[in-house]
Amino acid sequence: MAQSWDAIVIGAGIIGASVARELAAKGFKALSIDRLPAASYGSTSNSCAIIRPYYSTVHGSAVAYEGHYYWADWENFCGVTDELGMAGYNNCGCMVMKTEHNDFLEGILKVMDQIGCPYEELTPAQVRERVPPISTHSFDHPRRTDDPAFGEPRGREVRGAVLFPKGGYISDPQLAGHNVQRAAEAKGATFRFNTGVTAIRRNGDQVTGVTLDNGEEFDAPIVVNVAGPHSSKITEMAGLTGTMRITTRALRHEVAHVPSPEGYDAEKDGYVFSDSEIGAYTRPETGNHLLIGSEDPACDEKEWVDPDDYMTEFTGMWTTLVMRQAQRFPDIRIPNTARGAVDLYDVTEDWGPIYDKSDLKGFYLAIGTSGNQFKNAPIAGEMMADLIEACENGRDHDADPVSFRLRHIDHEIDMAFFSRNREINENSSFSVLG
Ligand SMILES: Cc1cc2nc3c(=O)[nH]c(=O)nc-3n(C[C@H](O)[C@H](O)[C@H](O)COP(=O)(O)OP(=O)(O)OC[C@H]3O[C@@H](n4cnc5c(N)ncnc54)[C@H](O)[C@@H]3O)c2cc1C
Repeated sequence: MAQSWDAIVIGAGIIGASVARELAAKGFKALSIDRLPAASYGSTSNSCAIIRPYYSTVHGSAVAYEGHYYWADWENFCGVTDELGMAGYNNCGCMVMKTEHNDFLEGILKVMDQIGCPYEELTPAQVRERVPPISTHSFDHPRRTDDPAFGEPRGREVRGAVLFPKGGYISDPQLAGHNVQRAAEAKGATFRFNTGVTAIRRNGDQVTGVTLDNGEEFDAPIVVNVAGPHSSKITEMAGLTGTMRITTRALRHEVAHVPSPEGYDAEKDGYVFSDSEIGAYTRPETGNHLLIGSEDPACDEKEWVDPDDYMTEFTGMWTTLVMRQAQRFPDIRIPNTARGAVDLYDVTEDWGPIYDKSDLKGFYLAIGTSGNQFKNAPIAGEMMADLIEACENGRDHDADPVSFRLRHIDHEIDMAFFSRNREINENSSFSVLG
């Protein structure tokens, strides 16, 4: 006989575990299933886990800014002691270069004013004072390394940068995910690892449960797709492909780790640094390293992949990332062995997530996190639980969208913003920046 649950969450990454936790907190008998051996072993484990408040829209920025307060109070928020320890938030601040590409941050600063998020504008000289190894030459826009103009300063300086003090990074995203698992268990959720979902069962227009790769069947009137880069496969299993305006697909990304420039203690003095002139972002990494990621510049081809069949080794992109960053940090030390991570984003057309119901009753979506939703995971869990509870109590979220109050910054979010059927956000950066 099939085991029965109130709710099954497919995927125990940081967002899946957060959804399980919040459903359990509302009294649902929740089961989280993951095909990997432990929580957050999927794309969460390789997340750069940057916490930053700036996005292209007011709603996107408000949720991200709210996220800072959850991470700043992580132990209390989790409310448990994890035997592996608690993830730490390095609130070092985020510095963003003013570039032509980001309209010198004028639009973003207006959004920051609207949500009350603090920032400090810096001149090039002030940037150099804060980050001594940096070059403030302008490079105009990102280039491929085979472009003859690559690395050539344009003969002038950048305009400056903006420092957002309420930001930073989590150095161990997998541990953060484990913390959420323990917090979810404390609320009554159950986790099941090493078992993959192979089928979603339905009766007419109502979901009824899942079938696992070992043949087991679990029944539930609520099933939530939080399968990260595999989300489109789960959507397909539910028979929902083609039913949503916004879709998801897996995008391969590389992240490089290199030693910091000589004499610079990145872990003590460094910032998260985003720079659309060179198409790269960086943050301090354990061992006085710099972590370097791509901001998806237009000159790079996107690597859409099958999440079950993609190359996990580094390619020339690793070298490109390091060379791009070396434009800003000319004294960067480049090791002869590539270190870092290769993993997948689950990307939507406008690089914003889907937190929504679906056309199948009882089947919900927390997908399309587009390389930028780690920071929002605890809020995504709360929003999804509110949405699920409302829909299960008869609310038609499509016609009468649920709203969610961001309690720390006192801002109301209309969850239609995350709809599977929204218009594409034309203000998006169409990159990991969202
Ligand atoms: C390289 C990289 C850098 C990033 N940097 C940042 C950043 O700096 N800041 C930020 O905010 N965000 C960042 N992100 C994004 C962030 O990490 C993700 O949005 C977040 O981790 C997604 O969590 P999740 O729980 O939705 O997915 P995942 O962690 O991918 O979890 C999905 C889980 O579903 C499981 N699963 C899949 N299919 C099945 C199945 N059939 N049956 C059972 N289980 C299944 C998988 O095993 C997996 O564990 C980054 C992501 C990557 C890859």
